[in-house]
Amino acid sequence: MAQQLAYFQGDFVPLEEANINILTHSFNYGTGCFEGIRAYWNAEQEELFVLHLEAHFRRMERSAKILHSTLPHSVEELCAIAMELIRRCGYRQDIYLRPTLYKADPVMGVRLHNLKDELCIYVIPMGNYVDVDNGLKVGVSSWRRINDNQIPARAKIIGAYVNSALAKTEANLNGFDEAIFLNDQGHVCEGSAENFFMMRDGLLITPGEHEDILEGITRASVIELAQKELGLETVVRAIDRSELYVADEIFLCGTGAQIAWVSEADHRPIGNGKMGPVSTQLRDIYFKAVHGDLPRYSQWLQAVYGPNGASMSSREASLT
Ligand code: PMP
Repeated sequence: MAQQLAYFQGDFVPLEEANINILTHSFNYGTGCFEGIRAYWNAEQEELFVLHLEAHFRRMERSAKILHSTLPHSVEELCAIAMELIRRCGYRQDIYLRPTLYKADPVMGVRLHNLKDELCIYVIPMGNYVDVDNGLKVGVSSWRRINDNQIPARAKIIGAYVNSALAKTEANLNGFDEAIFLNDQGHVCEGSAENFFMMRDGLLITPGEHEDILEGITRASVIELAQKELGLETVVRAIDRSELYVADEIFLCGTGAQIAWVSEADHRPIGNGKMGPVSTQLRDIYFKAVHGDLPRYSQWLQAVYGPNGASMSSREASLT
């Protein structure tokens, strides 16, 4: 049986004991940063694979720097703590890991400096965040993406997610599955929690890292897969809003969203309204890679239980 545990104030504790005081600075002002990490259960191999663990903690280090925060451990130590937490939880299903670095002092006053940082991590079971089979209907948001001189989108800052939440709720209430943000220049930017790709005339195109996007880890994996598996070099350039309507394929990607194709943008079908060949191939390869079924991408993954753990659990299972 899996246990719900958290890493909190330097200890592994039951999730229900990992609670913060309402005076906590981060709770009042959104002053903290976080990550979202997935681990995939491979039933055949009886193994849980954590995806891009180190890359996520490296990004957290960069977010922390922007917030005048300091992680209490090196990236290597953080990876070890996360792996230990997951192992102790004992899940045998897909999970999601949420490390948060937050300004923990119980004090009033809007600022970033002279505040203590605390790290917490929790683990929850997680299936699909958005539909990856049936096509997403997206709408351009009336909310603009925050720009780098307001709240830097390249940092995964807690407070910045109000921008995403405004767009997502507007989209959902208007009957769309997901929002597409434009940035201050009016260029296509990203979804509320996903990076954006489109196919146009045989080219795979994505907005650049200077367009107020989160520098997505899945985005980097898609660029790698497109190049290695499909021989497609990604073109990184600004994308106009009207290009959404004439694209041959669009898909959104992220740790949560995985690779989710878009069927409609602002009520216009994308391509022929069916899942396109590039989206299909990339999604299928991505799912194999993250489940540990493509050894050539094993460097993306860290096995939680290891060969002994797997054989032990099957032995235990056969005894019970
Ligand atoms: N953009 C935003 C705003 C996000 O919240 C996310 C999810 N972390 C992404 C893009 C995708 O990033 P990643 O692939 O690193 O999860």
